[in-house]
Amino acid sequence: MNQSDSERIRSVIEGMGYELTKIEEEADLIGVVACSVRQKSIDKVYSKIQKWNQWKNNRSLITFVSGCILPSDEAKFLKLFDLIFRMSELPELPTMIQQCGVILEFSAHHLFDDLEREDDRTDFWQVEPTYSSRFEAFVPIQNGCDKFCTYCAVPYTRGREVSRSSAAVLEEVETLVENGVKSITLLGQNVNSYGLDKKGEELSFAELFRAVGELGKRSGKEFWVYFTSPHPRDMTRDVIEVIAQYDCLAKQIHLPVQSGDEEILRRMNRNHSIDAYRKIVSDIRELLPTATLFTDIIVGFSGETEAQVEASAKLMEEVGFNMAYIAKYSPRVGALSASWEDDISLEQKGERLAKLTKILKRTSLACNEQMVGKTYRVLIERVDKRMKEALSARTEGRILVRILHAPEELIGTFQNVRITSAANLSLTGELV
Ligand code: SAH
Ligand code: SF4
Repeated sequence: MNQSDSERIRSVIEGMGYELTKIEEEADLIGVVACSVRQKSIDKVYSKIQKWNQWKNNRSLITFVSGCILPSDEAKFLKLFDLIFRMSELPELPTMIQQCGVILEFSAHHLFDDLEREDDRTDFWQVEPTYSSRFEAFVPIQNGCDKFCTYCAVPYTRGREVSRSSAAVLEEVETLVENGVKSITLLGQNVNSYGLDKKGEELSFAELFRAVGELGKRSGKEFWVYFTSPHPRDMTRDVIEVIAQYDCLAKQIHLPVQSGDEEILRRMNRNHSIDAYRKIVSDIRELLPTATLFTDIIVGFSGETEAQVEASAKLMEEVGFNMAYIAKYSPRVGALSASWEDDISLEQKGERLAKLTKILKRTSLACNEQMVGKTYRVLIERVDKRMKEALSARTEGRILVRILHAPEELIGTFQNVRITSAANLSLTGELV
């Protein structure tokens, strides 16, 4: 979502005549799209702005911050940054920057004072993004969340759920497809609640996804469409049925479970049981037999016992995830659980994370080993970050494949690759 927001911010700033630079030191205007999901990323913002404010002793520089910001950080950011704006205020950014430039000449600090109001304006979605890739794109379809999981910052940083109009979503997807984009991800903090805020007037998530599938079928082009992040509560069987019916709807499901323990799920306010999660997994296995399954898990939630970690471990073994984003619990000011004791030490959280990571590596290796010797369609993405002599690609299920001796011109294309070996979280293959 932050990458997608940045692509729209970039369009607005470039529209003012600014040019992108990759060299931080030479920027006249510099900003950050913050993430408040965990404290670690917010700490990074504080260290960046301190550095930038030091630069200001020697030269002029305008700084801004946007994205997900908790009210407690907002107050501090107001003192540190020249500009702070919500994405809903993006269309006003040029005016803010111009005013800021004038005020800075008198070395005053420019503050925006309307951050308190509830704001569900979504005009910023009409800003055409400057996509950062020519073959991979993110399309926001929904913003905010009404679920209020007790640990989560999102309802406080992004506000209530608002769905983008399906006509606008489909138009953006169609343009991307016409332009030859190969991988499209529909985005939302709670993506499959799409339409629930406009019941009766707007499509449901399943209906929207079906319309994307139809669009793909009509286009005759090859591309994969993903969505993230869904909530198990809204992951209805009709969504899975739709995915099964269209080639362009990728057979990869990211379904955060957060914990394998009923009591923890209850205290997280997730509002579903482990059995309900199991039922979705079995629907996926039945209707999408080739699909890969990803999840998110939190370790060290307030009051989590060793037995409860064991329950998460057991669920991971049982489901056999291809990928899991395992996070150490981090209390977020304003979220309900922040008022409960953060009683699991960082060391214990680290141990729990290591324990679950070990299981993930084992289950993903088992899935990957089954792929050796077979041929898969992959999208080639880039020169590999670790092995410079290889290109990295992803299968439809988003499993990383390193391809040796492949020409860089293939970046951004689909190719057939025979898998030659499997590792924990990746594969090696050769072009067919
Ligand atoms: N809407 C999605 C998740 C969005 S937040 C869902 O309902 O599952 C992305 C991920 O960040 C979450 O899945 C969770 O695993 C992690 N996360 C959110 N709040 C966190 C916190 N306070 N501490 C640690 N991890 C957290
Ligand atoms: Fe946060 Fe997801 Fe829960 Fe919403 S559903 S509160 S985004 S974890």
